[in-house]
Amino acid sequence: MAWTTDAPGGQRHTGYVLGRLADGTIPTYRSGQALYEREFTDSPNGAGGTWSGPGAADVDQPTALVPACRCGWRGPDTPYGGEALLPDDAMLEARAVWRAHAAAVLDAQVPDGYRDKISALARNLHELADERPRSALVLARQLREIADHLEPLAVAQALAQGVPWETIGVDLDQTKQAVHRRYGHPSASLEQRVRELTGGSVAALLAVARDRRRGTPPPAPRARWSQAVTRALRPPAGNGVGVPGS
Ligand SMILES: [Zn+2]
Repeated sequence: MAWTTDAPGGQRHTGYVLGRLADGTIPTYRSGQALYEREFTDSPNGAGGTWSGPGAADVDQPTALVPACRCGWRGPDTPYGGEALLPDDAMLEARAVWRAHAAAVLDAQVPDGYRDKISALARNLHELADERPRSALVLARQLREIADHLEPLAVAQALAQGVPWETIGVDLDQTKQAVHRRYGHPSASLEQRVRELTGGSVAALLAVARDRRRGTPPPAPRARWSQAVTRALRPPAGNGVGVPGS
């Protein structure tokens, strides 16, 4: 299992999990002249997991997981297999620790103009909720509407560009399985949102995205976006990133 994020400037972080044995070592294997550390993958059903590399079946189960990144970073050990944490939780914990490491890179994917707008908005929101709670309620609904519109289009676009589900999950801070479930078996509300926006189903949106040639524009939304959404999504001046329907 690996989690990847790309950032402008070619900085690339790919997270994975190593395991530490009861004797404190991280198991390795030799391939040619090189020595490799074995990666560990938790089993989705039940206890235990598997090591990478030849002879993996003879290696004991780890007592701790060690989140790692191809950039060389190592995170702190997460107890594994004992009473402390269920195996699944240990894997999620390791992933969360890696994500914190990569967060700066993930956030750097958001262009400056958008980041500044979001920060400025966030600064004002608490104040608004205190002083004008009903305005804040309306705003909360509009923000939800923006997210509901933006996410499926971005997921379809990412798939069209060959971004794997795992990476989409990293960006949304969800597991690969959760994102795949959400779009592979969309809820009624997600299905309705996408239908309002594109006039088609989630499956159709993803299929159109996958079949589209790189560099061609995304399908034009049929539904009109509300003015508030359009305003909020309008790209900052001087920024080349466009939003469909705006
Ligand atoms: Zn890294």
